[in-house]
Amino acid sequence: MKPQIRRYTQDYPCLNLTALTKCGYLATGYHGEIKSTLHGITVWSLAWRATDSYIELYYSLPYKRDYQRTVKLIHQQAHYGGQRYYLECPTCGEKRKQLYIVSGEPACRLCHQLHYKSQSESPYERAGRKLDKLLTKVDNLGYRFDGYGRAKGQHLTTYREIDKTIHQLQQEICAYINQRFPNSFLGIF
Ligand SMILES: [Zn+2]
Repeated sequence: MKPQIRRYTQDYPCLNLTALTKCGYLATGYHGEIKSTLHGITVWSLAWRATDSYIELYYSLPYKRDYQRTVKLIHQQAHYGGQRYYLECPTCGEKRKQLYIVSGEPACRLCHQLHYKSQSESPYERAGRKLDKLLTKVDNLGYRFDGYGRAKGQHLTTYREIDKTIHQLQQEICAYINQRFPNSFLGIF
């Protein structure tokens, strides 16, 4: 049997109705886009356009074709007056506030079997934070994956030690990205 990999909500593009409503982006004809970038490279992007009864989604994932899907928008009369909105999960048909895109298909957290991450910082974020800190100790332009060199006056043994840890952290981060986004072009590192 294949080992089960726990998948987390934070690792996938999310259409968040609560956030969209708050920002006022849900009015008919409104559109917007969110992107996830890593040192300036777009890993995925998700755009939407709202109409009265549905939301059109456009998104692209690394090395995959562009997708377009339509998600039904459900209006409900709130008790105090006004409207309440929900997205209809294309898989289970339930009213949801968030839909996640996994392997190109939008569906709710339960349908995609996604988990919430309990800790505030993931191993990936922790590695990134450590890496950024170490990169300030060498001669670096400020990018996580660009070349760097020994800082002025730095002891060679100190540099070698830092260099080794930087390299390990970069490998760790790349492995994580590859797991999150299989076939991502970041796999070349
Ligand atoms: Zn569902």
